[in-house]
Amino acid sequence: MGVSLRQQVKVGTYVLRQRLAGRRRYPLVLMLEPLFRCNLSCFGCGKIDYPDAILNKRLTLAECLDAVDECGAPMVAIPGGEPLLHKEIGDIVKGIVKRGKFVSLCTNALLLEKKLHLFEPSPYLFFSVHLDGLKEHHDKSVCLEGGFEKAIAGIKAAKAKGFAVNVNCTVFDGHPAEDIAKFLDLTAELGVGVSISPGYAYERAPDQQHFLNRRKTKDLFRKVFALGKSKRWNLTHSSMFLDFLAGNQEFHCTPWGMPTRNVFGWQKPCYLLGEGYAKTFRELMETTDWDAYGTGRYEKCANCMAHCGYEATAAEAMMKHPLRAAAIAWKGVTTEGPMAPEIDLSRQRPAQYVFDSQVQLRLSEIRANEAREKAAKAAIAQQTSASAA
Ligand code: SF4
Ligand code: SF4
Repeated sequence: MGVSLRQQVKVGTYVLRQRLAGRRRYPLVLMLEPLFRCNLSCFGCGKIDYPDAILNKRLTLAECLDAVDECGAPMVAIPGGEPLLHKEIGDIVKGIVKRGKFVSLCTNALLLEKKLHLFEPSPYLFFSVHLDGLKEHHDKSVCLEGGFEKAIAGIKAAKAKGFAVNVNCTVFDGHPAEDIAKFLDLTAELGVGVSISPGYAYERAPDQQHFLNRRKTKDLFRKVFALGKSKRWNLTHSSMFLDFLAGNQEFHCTPWGMPTRNVFGWQKPCYLLGEGYAKTFRELMETTDWDAYGTGRYEKCANCMAHCGYEATAAEAMMKHPLRAAAIAWKGVTTEGPMAPEIDLSRQRPAQYVFDSQVQLRLSEIRANEAREKAAKAAIAQQTSASAA
């Protein structure tokens, strides 16, 4: 299902090695957010509502590459914010590709054509263009009239220069299955792979009305997959994850499967929830209370079915049940009949709202660093003028 043989072999070997080494928790994809600043303000975004002092922060090239080395995952996704706004993005990608890691550079494509010269085509590099459906849905989702045409132009320009391009589509409530199917037909015509996932209900997203709950997600994906039975859509997910979206698997998430490094540090517990930060990857793995998160355990996780939480679970399930996974890939996802039992939510702990305190803490750190840097510069200037005298 839409992933190159090279990538499947490399990632499969990595997973096998982790299992043989008896590692219970290991990362599959590093989510590297080098900045939060974006040139769009999408209605379902939970990443850009920070004060300017935070939006102006960047991870440096060295910090990005250190995170890649520290984490060790075979794949690196670079979301944001808009990564193409980062001045060192070309070198960041080059450094990761040089390490033999697969890079998925996420972009809303507004700047893609202009910035293509920063990159070289490689079997290790994919542009993942944010495209939430056909024109009507995409423009509404990104709150920009003409956003669709810009994204399509970016995709075509990148493909014309020999780059591998996928699109990432977030699905919200009110997006009819028929329209999603037509959108997937379009991606097949464009010759791009698709990563598709229900939107996570970020508590701070400007529009809270359009997030799907689990039951609606499963019903919607069953309808979409039924419409796609004879189609050749290139969905870049494992067969088990698609089966999960259609309600045939009752998975628990694997939040450490896609750990997140951003300007705050290593985010606890996952890409979607920021409930604390660790200074190192090791600290993240060792100090996060993993059992406190996931559907049925924590209110904020109740409706989550996002790929960044469950693709690693699906990969693990494929290793355990390869024949079942192959059968789904061969026959397609079941779209009728009873669904797998739903997780009981009656004992989940209530949501904690820590965003404001986290932001205050980070702002204090930024101010303290600025004050230190200013004092250091002043001391150097004083020394220089003393020696000149
Ligand atoms: S393009 Fe991505 S980061 Fe930017 S506002 Fe939209 S969802 Fe958020
Ligand atoms: S269910 Fe898992 S992946 Fe989803 S928000 Fe909760 S911890 Fe994160």
